[in-house]
Amino acid sequence: MNRREELAAALERTRARIAAAAREAGRDPAGTTLVVVTKFFPASDVAELAGLGVRDVGESRDQEASAKAAELAGRADLHWHFIGQVQTNKARSLARYADTVHSVDRVRLVQALQAGAEQAGRDLDVFVQVDLAQRVGLDADAGRGGATGEEVFRVADAVAASADLRLRGLMAVAPLGAEPRRAFDELAALAERLRRDHPRAVELSAGMSGDLEAAVAAGTTHLRVGSAILGSRPLAR
Ligand SMILES: *Cc1c(COP(=O)(O)O)cnc(C)c1O
Repeated sequence: MNRREELAAALERTRARIAAAAREAGRDPAGTTLVVVTKFFPASDVAELAGLGVRDVGESRDQEASAKAAELAGRADLHWHFIGQVQTNKARSLARYADTVHSVDRVRLVQALQAGAEQAGRDLDVFVQVDLAQRVGLDADAGRGGATGEEVFRVADAVAASADLRLRGLMAVAPLGAEPRRAFDELAALAERLRRDHPRAVELSAGMSGDLEAAVAAGTTHLRVGSAILGSRPLAR
């Protein structure tokens, strides 16, 4: 099997998993966007995926992502999702190529992204990342990034008040050692609270290769799936 066939088969399997989970949950599979996480894999894989109909790709490191986005600049139909931790000084770079940023967790970063978006003359879609560890009764160090406590709502308010940022909803990674369904239900409850002040922020970014079924059951709208489609990543650097 060549790479394209391999990716096509894995995409098919993943879409079947999503469809089965949606059926189980009484949801329309079309209500979820599959973001294919291509971090650590070459731009040639992104091009193959685009050829297979993928439009949403996710990246987690600015340097790698900006290089790939530049290499694939001819594919204007690709939507670049940034899902990794963002250093404030990278916000300007990110605003030049990212369409959606899933990992916004502090007000200072909101300000930096707004400045970057304005300078680039672009609008950015934003998810506020929530740290669920303490919300599911784990120690803070089980967390995988994100805002804690009431900070979630302060960050969301800051996004909503920014001229060139659009608040889409909340994002989380299930904490290590937590039951994913419980973690995602917690996220969904917070999202419901968020909608009281921000009725249009109806999206939920949750679910990865290992826990996408739990995320679909909890109402996710954006799945971020990497290894189930591209294979296991080279050792994390
Ligand atoms: C890498 C990554 C993913 C994809 O993880 P897989 O287990 O490979 O599907 C999803 N979300 C975030 C935030 C990631 O960093």
